[in-house]
Amino acid sequence: MPHTNLQKLISVPGIGNVRMTKKAGALRLRISVSPRRGVTVTLPRIMPWSAGISFLMSKRQWVEEALRRQELRQRMAVQDGKTASVPDDPAELERMRERARAILVPKLRSAASQYGFSYGRIAIKNNVSNWGSCSTRGNINLNMRLILLPEHLQDYVILHELCHLRHPDHGPQFHALLDSLLGGQEAVLSRELRGWRII
Ligand SMILES: [Zn+2]
Repeated sequence: MPHTNLQKLISVPGIGNVRMTKKAGALRLRISVSPRRGVTVTLPRIMPWSAGISFLMSKRQWVEEALRRQELRQRMAVQDGKTASVPDDPAELERMRERARAILVPKLRSAASQYGFSYGRIAIKNNVSNWGSCSTRGNINLNMRLILLPEHLQDYVILHELCHLRHPDHGPQFHALLDSLLGGQEAVLSRELRGWRII
């Protein structure tokens, strides 16, 4: 069975539970810290567990800081009351993604035809780094959490990404185009969107 992954759960004082995973395709040791999945160490299949553990120990300070930063961000978000997060349960997560696809794709499609944009493909993502993005090939990614936002902010993010099809940067021409499509409301909407946190 060449593709099975091996897993091991260890507990490290100061860090908590750490999932160790031996992955068939992994070329090097890797640590990831995620608010939903916690701390994971990925090892190449042939490496002994002890190598993963000593790697983790050598990066311990970084891991502790990353965990603290994430906790702080979540706490701030909860205080603000405007948070966009996804369910932990994988089945529920997939249901939410399908709901997001059903809502966001038609919105993007109709905004594109209304303003004469043509794009590549649309993907609905589960990421915490942005609400949306547009690649140089004209493919648009939208964060599934957008459906938790008021509808005018969903439309705002979609128009923002569509404008990147003409201007890939955030330069003056980009903002002029976006602002004109929004009837001069770009600054107001962008401020409102910044009040929301992705967690
Ligand atoms: Zn942008």
